[in-house]
Amino acid sequence: MKYVDEFRDPAAVRALAEELRQATTRPWRIMEVCGGQTHAFVRFGIDRLLPDGVELIHGPGCPVCVTSVEVIDRALALAARPDVVFCTFGDMLRVPGSTTDLLQVKAAGGDVRTVYSPLDAVKLAQQLPDKQVVFFAVGFETTAPGAAMAVHHAAQAGIDNFSVLVAHVLVPPALEAIAGAEDTAVNGFLAAGHVCTVMGTEAYRPLAEHYSMPIVVTGFEPTDLLRGLLACVRQLEEGRAEVENAYERAVRDEGNPAARTMVERVFEPVEQQWRGIGALPASGLGLREAYHRFDAARRFDLPPGEGREDPECRAGEVLRGVCKPEDCAAFGNRCTPDHPLGAPMVSSEGACAAYYRYRRTA
Ligand code: SF4
Repeated sequence: MKYVDEFRDPAAVRALAEELRQATTRPWRIMEVCGGQTHAFVRFGIDRLLPDGVELIHGPGCPVCVTSVEVIDRALALAARPDVVFCTFGDMLRVPGSTTDLLQVKAAGGDVRTVYSPLDAVKLAQQLPDKQVVFFAVGFETTAPGAAMAVHHAAQAGIDNFSVLVAHVLVPPALEAIAGAEDTAVNGFLAAGHVCTVMGTEAYRPLAEHYSMPIVVTGFEPTDLLRGLLACVRQLEEGRAEVENAYERAVRDEGNPAARTMVERVFEPVEQQWRGIGALPASGLGLREAYHRFDAARRFDLPPGEGREDPECRAGEVLRGVCKPEDCAAFGNRCTPDHPLGAPMVSSEGACAAYYRYRRTA
């Protein structure tokens, strides 16, 4: 394994940027799917090294951002219950629901706890047998194996005061919705390397073929990003549309079979509501029947969420790549990381947060 510095070497970055410039003869619009990649592009200024012909479109791959307000509202209702200990990743604390967020619920007395692993929530359930411990299971295919493992472990250990509020989403259906949209402006995709370390690359092949769009599995360091773009542009220039792995040091075609098996054992594909995209069939994960007793949505009588977003927030357009954060009138004034109006300004993978953090000081 190379040291990270090697993937940030300025000479290597400049050489790849020059290769990309020479390879580009026409305009191409390429979507980096993952919010982590968006942050890396902006943080390292790679987007400013690109030739004029290559335009980046920021994709929907920020799990915090695409979680619908309705689901956030249900999480808030659960977290406010006196019998519940609500466990979440830290990224979710500041995401606005219709009227409040988890941090404010905590300040008002709700037992909201930040965990680093779903298994921490299971341990908490064992330590607090008189409480209902709920884990907020959000994220893409990268975090689903951990949630699946937690549910499976709770089932095996007979821990009945543990449940999960499931809001997992899957990448390929989102890419299909973007590629298949009548007004799509995307010519090719950089697929998220970490998702592919879990799920592999096979699910992307029918998409690349059907929509005639190259899909290049790409990592997160500066040279990774440029290698992904170069591979994508070369395919476009040569009229090819293939799945290509430009993140070989981490991704195998078959992904991580053990993690995939655990996800498939516990979850099944269900329709999911995406912020900015809407409902997509088979784009989320729901608990299989054998694990329904761990489904917080079934266990608790949750009111339907209002699902009301701030009318000024253009998160949906940002997530579909229709506009950039700076196009939003609230960016950097009425909407900041301290006072976010929408999830993309909260999340460590949100495009608005990336532009605020790195562009305003550039
Ligand atoms: S800057 Fe704020 S209000 Fe505008 S789209 Fe981003 S999160 Fe929403």
